[in-house]
Amino acid sequence: MAELDSFRSETRAWLEANCPPEMREPMRSESEACWGGRNWTFSSDAQRVWLERMVERGWTVPHWPKDYGGAGLSPAEAKVLKEEMARIGARNPLYSFGISMLGPALLKFGNDEQKKRFLPEIARGEIRWCQGYSEPGAGSDLAGLQTKAEDKGDHWLVNGQKVWTSYADKADWIFCLVRTSTESKQGGISFLLFDMQTPGVSTKPILLISGNSPFCETFFDDVKVPKNQVVGEVNRGWDVAKYLLGHEREMIAGMGLGGTGGTLGRMLKPDDPFLRAEIAAFDVDALAFAAMSERFFEMFKASEAHPASPSMMKYAGTELNKRRHELMMAAGGSDALEWDSDRSKGGKTPRDWLRTKANSIEGGTSEIQLNIVAKHILGLPGA
Ligand SMILES: Cc1cc2nc3c(=O)[nH]c(=O)nc-3n(C[C@H](O)[C@H](O)[C@H](O)COP(=O)(O)OP(=O)(O)OC[C@H]3O[C@@H](n4cnc5c(N)ncnc54)[C@H](O)[C@@H]3O)c2cc1C
Repeated sequence: MAELDSFRSETRAWLEANCPPEMREPMRSESEACWGGRNWTFSSDAQRVWLERMVERGWTVPHWPKDYGGAGLSPAEAKVLKEEMARIGARNPLYSFGISMLGPALLKFGNDEQKKRFLPEIARGEIRWCQGYSEPGAGSDLAGLQTKAEDKGDHWLVNGQKVWTSYADKADWIFCLVRTSTESKQGGISFLLFDMQTPGVSTKPILLISGNSPFCETFFDDVKVPKNQVVGEVNRGWDVAKYLLGHEREMIAGMGLGGTGGTLGRMLKPDDPFLRAEIAAFDVDALAFAAMSERFFEMFKASEAHPASPSMMKYAGTELNKRRHELMMAAGGSDALEWDSDRSKGGKTPRDWLRTKANSIEGGTSEIQLNIVAKHILGLPGA
């Protein structure tokens, strides 16, 4: 305990001295998030300095081993770091599909060469990754994917199309599910990594109602991929894909916590007593979710979580986040409806509200999460 206390005071002192004041302000829009990558342009010196300092300490991936760019922190220490960052409102120095999704999958399924090659780059935010899972005919039924990778002796030849590939047009590399055999649906999928600059890869943006769109269609036309870029065994990529999805769902579930803004009751003070009562009821549920999350995240990190837990948390967290933004819109009244004005903070409230509509779709829809929970908990067929 004494060791953890001294870790806390060192961490607090370091954060106070090293987190630039600008990086303690809440982000006004998604565009202020730092994603890193080959072509990243920092929005300010403070953003660059904050990332560099956190990378140097291994604190972009605090619980990863030091050899791979982490700090080797224990779960208890990593929690202290998170709490101390939240205490001063420190921004996340790096948003990264590499950290939240690919990294954990590489740590479990990657070979030594792949871990040494890719993990430190992810920790330093040097390569931006995108996720090539969904296809026009394979979303919820992901194992129905058709993008084909043919074994050409010294390389794979990839042909097909992905859809809803968030930030594909800005990403450097993709982690991609491909069909390497048609003999079995789930047993013919492999997990492939490749550079988005490889000849034959192209992307096309998809526009959204909110005006901000991360989405792309991604096309592969005779893309040559080196043989050593399959993660795990050929035709066993479904295991990697599912493991990664558990981490994706864990990350998305975190939306239920609502950042570091405190309770809604402290932020919103509408006159309407019915709305105040709804806000109070929401805050009680949000606190219960936070307590449940704490237990779940610890069990998940220790690989002790029930197989249905990521789905339960994803379902609960995303439904809660949607409810949070409904209440913010209701409390904001007509000001909150304005798309581009000072009163609506440049449209932040309505844009954020619209964005939450996707929470219960991304990473697998709420209906699919409920199916998974039912199969595991009720012991229905297919668990
Ligand atoms: C914001 C956002 C970001 C995303 N980013 C990415 C990304 O980076 N990479 C990527 O690969 N994909 C991404 N996706 C795609 C996402 O994973 C899919 O949209 C999702 O899995 C649902 O698939 P679908 O859109 O094909 O819907 P469908 O599978 O066609 O489903 C349509 C509806 O039918 C319901 N349904 C389908 N099957 C069943 C069933 N068996 N039981 C009950 N109901 C069912 C679904 O719940 C849904 O309501 C993203 C999606 C969003 C919204």
